[in-house]
Amino acid sequence: MSIEHFEIAKRIKEITQEIPSQVRLIAVSKQVPTTAMRIAYEAGVRDFAENRLQEAIAKQAELSDLTDICWHFIGHLQTKKARKVITNFHWIHSIDSLKLAQRIDILAAELDRKPQLLLQVKPLEDPNKYGWQIPALLNDLDALNGLKNIQIKGLMTILPWGLSAEQNLTAFNTVKELADKIRQQNYSCLQMQELSMGMSGDYPLAIKAGSTMIRLGRTIFGERKY
Ligand SMILES: *Cc1c(COP(=O)(O)O)cnc(C)c1O
Repeated sequence: MSIEHFEIAKRIKEITQEIPSQVRLIAVSKQVPTTAMRIAYEAGVRDFAENRLQEAIAKQAELSDLTDICWHFIGHLQTKKARKVITNFHWIHSIDSLKLAQRIDILAAELDRKPQLLLQVKPLEDPNKYGWQIPALLNDLDALNGLKNIQIKGLMTILPWGLSAEQNLTAFNTVKELADKIRQQNYSCLQMQELSMGMSGDYPLAIKAGSTMIRLGRTIFGERKY
């Protein structure tokens, strides 16, 4: 084992000890080679997230002997790639429009799958990111609730860069309150038990606000090499 690999196992152990047991640790393995992913797997990680379909499919083939990996898709999803993402991933965190959700609903029926999805929301204005602003999402809830072939499990967020810790916490709390508000409306098909929020720079704050899934890349694998 190289020093780098030793470090990966050590970091996973530390994070696992530090976070509450009900919070799911998702290792973001984009641009990370499968050798390093195997180390993470051996250290106990079973959830891996990728943001590019082609890269993910190649890695899934290389890791096909690890049959209990749960794969998460976290990148912006073009409708033309939706079919492959539905068949190759257990979770899709990045549902960012009604149109995409409707397309996935149709494909899911064709494929006889019931994909687990999260709705990507922006608690603050952020032109650089995909997702619903809160009022727009509230407007689309009735339509989303009508999609019977998908399982909407909760919300996902990526906060803008450069906020203070206090602003981060406020924004995460806003997303948590939005999930509570949607839950109180008792939609039959909108479950709101999952909150995918928190990355390397802000995950302790996300957990404080009630995150159930943290997505960590650099904290586990080190800086990505471009
Ligand atoms: C890259 C990425 C992460 C992980 O970011 P780190 O800062 O490396 O922890 C989490 N979520 C999404 C959507 C990402 O694209």
